[in-house]
Amino acid sequence: MIQTTAVVVGAGHAGLAMSRRLSERSVDHVVLERGQVANSWRTQRWPSLRLLTPNWQTRLPGCRYTGDDPDGYMPAADVAATLTRYARLIDAPVRTATTVHTVRVAPEGFQIRANDDLLRARAVVLATGACNLPAIPDLAGAVPPSVTTLTPLAYRDPGQLPAGGVLVVGASATGVQLAAEIHQSGRPVTLAAGEHVRLPRTYRGRDIFWWMQATGLLAERYDQIDDLTRARHLPSPQLTGITPTTMTDLNSLTALGIRILGRLGRITDGTAQFSGSLANTCALADLKMNRFLTRADQWATTHGLDDELAPTHRFAPTRVDPRAPLELDLTSGEITTVLWATGFRPDHSWLDIPVRDRTGRIRHDGGVVTGAPGLYLLGLPVLRTRASTYIHGAAADTRALAGHLHSYLDSQHRSQPAAAHMRRPRVGL
Ligand SMILES: Cc1cc2nc3c(=O)[nH]c(=O)nc-3n(C[C@H](O)[C@H](O)[C@H](O)COP(=O)(O)OP(=O)(O)OC[C@H]3O[C@@H](n4cnc5c(N)ncnc54)[C@H](O)[C@@H]3O)c2cc1C
Repeated sequence: MIQTTAVVVGAGHAGLAMSRRLSERSVDHVVLERGQVANSWRTQRWPSLRLLTPNWQTRLPGCRYTGDDPDGYMPAADVAATLTRYARLIDAPVRTATTVHTVRVAPEGFQIRANDDLLRARAVVLATGACNLPAIPDLAGAVPPSVTTLTPLAYRDPGQLPAGGVLVVGASATGVQLAAEIHQSGRPVTLAAGEHVRLPRTYRGRDIFWWMQATGLLAERYDQIDDLTRARHLPSPQLTGITPTTMTDLNSLTALGIRILGRLGRITDGTAQFSGSLANTCALADLKMNRFLTRADQWATTHGLDDELAPTHRFAPTRVDPRAPLELDLTSGEITTVLWATGFRPDHSWLDIPVRDRTGRIRHDGGVVTGAPGLYLLGLPVLRTRASTYIHGAAADTRALAGHLHSYLDSQHRSQPAAAHMRRPRVGL
């Protein structure tokens, strides 16, 4: 039995940032990682993926981007390398190749089974990410067997797809990026677009993430957002880190020759049926984009930046082809692949503690798990702010949660003075 004060599960950026915060507070801990540091970026992202957040925003506690391309967008391999360097820089006590199989409540804390080891800890931080599994709609089961289906977690490049047409379902960051890449390979691409978030890559000469940060949008707190459930389920924006800086909204994809259809609603007897409300969906996305651009303009004026920035302007409304079909026969051979770009979900199936709500989600208040003192969550959308799911969002979230964790240990310590939480176990990276 290995005894430590805190266990962090997962050595992605969130787990590493938490490790740094715990070290700052001299909390004895270990980070358990089933693969290598930055495993998700090594094994679950397609090679051509670039961050949609600019390099200057890729910062973690005690570490800023210092390269020569602050306005560029990092490829997935560079993210993995950056996180590996960060783990070394902060001397994170990571145990790699160590899969957590169960976490249970035990006297004075938690019992963790990882590989063949048992660990005891007073606190556990779940930093295993929000995107472990693909979120695939139930109708996926009705795709005819002649059609290849895959998810972005398994996608590597267009070369792995059979020849023929590809239906990409979902028009958020992943869907628009993969639709463009697959189209470039010469395959005819159809994109089924449901509710989406349209944003320009740049506005008035600045990256849209600059605007989101400057206006305070990303810093909006979970306890100040009117419809938190909706905010937590918002699709990712239609942005990519493709360079040179390019729009990847539906108009741009249409201009490339990609066919845009409405939301995939049903598949009956091999026929896919698409919603007829694409025009409304697009009008709503345009409206919301313009609302944000107005907020950005107001912010610029209030801060006296109008002369420094390019002039205000608006983008053409999304064009919707009124002749777009509402049905596609998936048995005709026209479509040979369906790619489910319908989002991701976390996998906490190994957590053996009754802290879930009726929908199976872990109940928490800004990352402090409800009903399990000493248990914390990281990395989920709008966990504490709208930035929580982004790399740079981990700095504030881990500061707050490490502070909470430390106070919790102190309160336990006062009631059980024998607790020693200042030691650090010897573990290798
Ligand atoms: C396609 C895609 C693009 C993204 N682009 C951006 C972007 O441009 N900018 C941005 O800021 N964010 C982006 N994100 C969001 C977010 O930054 C990433 O998802 C990031 O990887 C999340 O970091 P994390 O540390 O929370 O989780 P992860 O990076 O997923 O790390 C979790 C770790 O936990 C490990 N693990 C899981 N289960 C276990 C277990 N049972 N035992 C032990 N270890 C386990 C995994 O192996 C993994 O290493 C993107 C996400 C996706 C999916």
